[in-house]
Amino acid sequence: MLDLAHRLAKLLEPWFLQHQRDLAWRRTRDPYAIWVSEIMLQQTRVDTVEQYYGKFLERFPDIGTLAAADESEVLAAWSGLGYYRRARLLHAGARHVAASHGGKVPDDPELLRQIPGVGRYTAGAIASIAFERPTALVDGNVARVLSRLQAIEDPKLQEAGAPGHWTMAQQIVQAGPPRVLAQALMELGATVCTPLGPRCEGCPVRSECQALAKGLQTTIPRPKQRAPSPRDDLWAVAVRRNGRVLLEQRANDGLLAGMWCLPLIERKITDRAGAPPRAIAEVTGVKVKSVEALTEPVKHVFTHRVWMLWPCRGEAAVVDVSHMSGYEDGPGRMWIAPGERPRGGIPKVTEKVLERLGY
Ligand code: SF4
Repeated sequence: MLDLAHRLAKLLEPWFLQHQRDLAWRRTRDPYAIWVSEIMLQQTRVDTVEQYYGKFLERFPDIGTLAAADESEVLAAWSGLGYYRRARLLHAGARHVAASHGGKVPDDPELLRQIPGVGRYTAGAIASIAFERPTALVDGNVARVLSRLQAIEDPKLQEAGAPGHWTMAQQIVQAGPPRVLAQALMELGATVCTPLGPRCEGCPVRSECQALAKGLQTTIPRPKQRAPSPRDDLWAVAVRRNGRVLLEQRANDGLLAGMWCLPLIERKITDRAGAPPRAIAEVTGVKVKSVEALTEPVKHVFTHRVWMLWPCRGEAAVVDVSHMSGYEDGPGRMWIAPGERPRGGIPKVTEKVLERLGY
C-alpha cells in the first residue's frame, strides 16, 4: 500500500497536467524568469502579475541586464505591482547572482537561499520548477491544502512554517516529477481548495481528504484573529505653482521607500478645510495662499497599516522665489505638469491621489 504522499502524487500529477491554468511563467524553464514570477506573485494576484511579467522580462530579459540596471529603472518597471521592497530585493538578488555565480541561477536550494529576497519557499519553487530538483515549498495555499487533507486542527500545526507541512511537501515532490507536483500543490490551493468554499466536488484528492470525510473542510484552517491595522490619516497636498504640482521622493526606508509621492502631512481631527498653510510651508518650503480640501479620502492598505490620504490643493503664493529652493526642482523633489510622471514611476497610491486631483 502506497503511503499518503505517493497516493497524493499519483492523483495530483494527471490532474495538473490536464487542468493547469495557462500562465506565461509556466511556459518557460528559465530559472530567472521563474524567479521573477515567484517574486511578483508574492502578495499580488495572478491577473495583475500577468499584466507586468512579460513587460518586465522584455525590459530585463536576463540576470545581467537586471543587475546592470539603475534602481530607478527597476522600480519604474515594477510600478503598479506595489510592495516595492520586492523589486529592490530582486535587483539586489540579480547583482548577487551576477557577482557570485557568473550570472547563472544556482540549482542548489541552499545556494538559492543565500540570494537576497529568496526565502525557503521561493528557493523550493525555483529548484523544483526550473531544475526538477525535489525541494519542498509551502506557502499559505499549500499549508491550507495539507492541513485539510490531514484534518489538522491545531492552529500552530496549520501554519506554513509548520515542520510537518514541509516534510509532507518534500515527500510529495519526491514521489514524481517535482516540476509538476510542486505546481500542482500550488494550483490546487489557488483554484480548488480555496480559503472560503473549497470546491471539493471537483477536487482530485477528495478520496484522501480527511477534512472532507469529517465535514471540517470549511473550518480548517481556523481563521486568524487579526488585530485591526493601525490607520494613519494624512493630507496628501498638491502644492501648485504655474500649473505644476510638487512631488517629493520618500526616504529610503519605511513605507514606499524611495518612491515619489505628494507631500504628506498628518491630518488632525480639528483640520477640516485642508492642511494648515503653516504645516505645508514647514514640510515643503513653499508658502501657500489658499487651501482647498476634497471630501473623500483615498484608502491604501499596506500589509500592517492603512493610510487614509485626504487630497487637498494649496496654491503657492506669489513671492520672490529667487532665494527659496523649495520653488525649484532639486534632489528628491520635482514639479510635474499634468500627465507628467517621474522617470522612476510612481506608486499606485500616488497615481490615485493625482487622478482624484485632476493630475
Ligand atoms: Fe480541499 Fe476539499 Fe480537496 Fe479536501 S477535498 S483538499 S478540503 S478541496
